[in-house]
Order: sequence, then C-alpha cells, then structure tokens
Amino acid sequence: MNLYESIESQDKEVFGALQGEEQREAEGLELIPSENYVSRAVREANGSVFTNKYSEGYPGKRYYGGQEFTDEVETLAIERAKKLFGCDHANVQPLGGANANIAAYFAWMEPGDTIMGMDLGHGGHLTHGHPVTYMSKLYNFVRYKMKNVETGEIDYDEMRATAVREKPKMILGGFSAYPRELDWAQIKSIADEVGAVAMADVAHIAGLIAGGVAKNPFDYGFQIVTTTTHKTLRGPRGGLIMTKGVVSNPMKAPEKTIENLPTLIDRAVFPGFQGGPHMHQIAAKAVAFGEALQPAFKTYAAQILKNAKAMETVFRAGGVRMLAGGTSNHLILADVFGSLGIEGKAAEETLNAVGITLNKNAIADDTRPPFNPSGIRFGTPAITTRGFKEGECTRVAELMLDAMKNKDDQSKLDTIRQEIKELAQKFPIPDSFV
Ligand SMILES: *Cc1c(COP(=O)(O)O)cnc(C)c1O
Repeated sequence: MNLYESIESQDKEVFGALQGEEQREAEGLELIPSENYVSRAVREANGSVFTNKYSEGYPGKRYYGGQEFTDEVETLAIERAKKLFGCDHANVQPLGGANANIAAYFAWMEPGDTIMGMDLGHGGHLTHGHPVTYMSKLYNFVRYKMKNVETGEIDYDEMRATAVREKPKMILGGFSAYPRELDWAQIKSIADEVGAVAMADVAHIAGLIAGGVAKNPFDYGFQIVTTTTHKTLRGPRGGLIMTKGVVSNPMKAPEKTIENLPTLIDRAVFPGFQGGPHMHQIAAKAVAFGEALQPAFKTYAAQILKNAKAMETVFRAGGVRMLAGGTSNHLILADVFGSLGIEGKAAEETLNAVGITLNKNAIADDTRPPFNPSGIRFGTPAITTRGFKEGECTRVAELMLDAMKNKDDQSKLDTIRQEIKELAQKFPIPDSFV
C-alpha cells in the first residue's frame, strides 16, 4: 500500500526522501535508546486536519473560535496522561522534552536561581544546564554524580551536602545516559530538607513507568514530572508536564506556591513560552496514551527490560566493561575503547555499516573528546516494538561484538550485514499494538 500517494504525484523530491527513510527503518535495526516506532494510528493522528487549527489557550478557555473538537481531543490526551502516571494535572502542549523542561523551570524559578541536576558527564541531559544552552545562562546549575561508576550508585551524601550548601530551589532527578534506577525517595527527602521542589525528568523511562516496570516519582511525592512522549512511551515527538493538584484561575498570575504549581505550569507553557499548541501532535499523544493504557503495553515494557538484560549478558561474557556494571532499565553504555580497543566513533560507524543504528557516547569521566568518546550507548525500546525477544537480542549483541572486533574485515562485515537484514525482514515494523 502506498501511504504517500499524494506526495508521490505532487512532490517527487520529498517522496524520494520518505521512501528512503521507510526503507532505512525497515531494513536496519534501531538501537538508539531514545527512539521507537509508532503505530499507524499515531501517525494518522499526527498527519491529521488538526494541524490546520489555532488553539491558543486550554480546553474551554481559548483565544480563537471553532474549538469543539480540539477541546475534545486535548481533554482526552490530558485525562489519559493523568491515568497513566497517576497524577492530577497534565499539560500536553509542550512541543518536545526540552520545551517541557524549560517551561517547568520557568514556572517555578526566577533568573539566577539555583537548580541541582545530574552531572552531564554522568548521564544528565543537555537541558539540565549544559553550558551551550540558554537555560544555563538563566539559572545557576549545581551537580550531583555517581559515587561509583562501576556500580552506578549515586552519591546521595554528597548530594545532600551540596543541597544544604547551595540551597537549590529545585532538585532535578532524571537522565538520558544512566542505566540504573534513581532512588526517588532519597532525592525527595533531600529536596524536603532544603525546601526545594522535586522535579523528575523521566523522558527516557516514561514508558517503563507507564508499563509498571520502573518506579513512578509521583509515588515518592515528586511535585513535577516532565517527559517526552516519543521515547519508551511510543508516541509522537512531543513533551508533557505533570503535577499534583488542580488549576485555579489560569487567566491570573498566581503566587509561586506548591498549591499553584498546576496553574504556574500552564501559564509557563502558554503564554509564557510557546504560542499555539500543535493540535495534530496532541491528537497523536491522545492515541498513543490510549495504547499505553492497554494491557499489552505492560507486556511490552517488561520485555524491553528482559531484552536489555539479554544483551548485557552477552557483553559481560565478551569482557566488555559497562557503565554501572550493566543495566536495570532499557539502555547500556559500553566502554568499547577500554575493552575492545575500538573508538566510539569507529564503533558507531562500523555498526551503522552492518545495519545497526546507535550512538557513540562518553563514559562517565571520559578522557576522550566528545566527538570521539570511549563508548557506545544502545537500548531495546525499538527492537522490542518490532517483536524481538531475548533470543534475537542475544544474537544482535553477539553480532555487534563480532562486527566491532572485525571492523577491518569487509567480507565478515558483509556477512553480518546480511544476517541483520534478514533478522529485520523477519520482524517487520508492526502497524498496530492493540
Ligand atoms: C530526550 C530528552 C529530553 C529532550 O527531549 P526533546 O524532545 O529532544 O527536546 C529532555 N530530557 C531528557 C532526560 C531526555 O532524555
């Protein structure tokens, strides 16, 4: 079936790029831990007529007319998000994860205020105050780290001492390159001790939380939870901010109190930071949240973890050092330079050439440069969507090691490329998960 009939007849250039991407996704294996494949239903919503509509404001309180159906679909997205994460308030308008974080910071803090987040070299995300970001110019970021990079244990004593000294207004738990669970209870108790708001950025693990296989920061009293919707949650690209409590009067700027967080957040997203919401994207979020509420999503989330464990086992047997000693979630950071003598960049390129997409990544306290670090980062959310179980994941991990060890043997790489292609063809990207 040609899904792009109109594009094909009207615009050959864009059609060419689309076809290329279709083929690339079908024939290769996606191991980037922040990527996934959405259902056809999510894509239909994302490509729908809702893209035509301006809907500044919130359901029932908009600045333009004609909102019967945008209100309906945004309310569906909100109610489903609340149910998925067990909270009272959800703002589904952030255009992405970075937008969600900026709005959450803006809701609670004033320029110059201090925020404590995970060290960027130990797994924190760019939006947690990397010097190249705008946020880092606005706020004063202080850090916590792992105590032991071989076990992944966070140094909670140091975290407490830094919090007492620096008095952050917000403590941020969350990561994009950390393979273990955070101790939400510890982080919340430190935040309480210094009077900071506890915010969790669960962008990477939202699907694991929704699927019931990772702990939910709301269960530990966190006041703000932000996430992307397109990683393990398997929705369209987008962001989401959730809180406890209810919106008072969104038309009036409230005092900065915990009770007012829902209102502060709504006002920070719009009109504080964004313009009109992307209603097509919100419709797609509603569809994806509907899918994540199905029992099958729990099975999916559990399988992501089993598959990551299967790959960990192969890497350990192959003598590869892994950050934190392995994984308790969906991703692995492997020190391929330290263990196999292959640089991160060469590993990424070699694996890409055999049909495995992943990214090079610094390993905590890496002494190599960021553009050619010691490690690779990979994960199982996308191949699990494809239907891979432990057996296939074990084989993929074996092929990865084989390719990295034989990076200069072209005929060997060709054989591996062929096996990857056959594996991909055997597990086509599904159209539906319900
Ligand atoms: C991916 C990610 C983001 C940013 O999401 P975008 O949609 O790319 O803006 C923010 N925080 C964390 C922890 C992430 O992993």
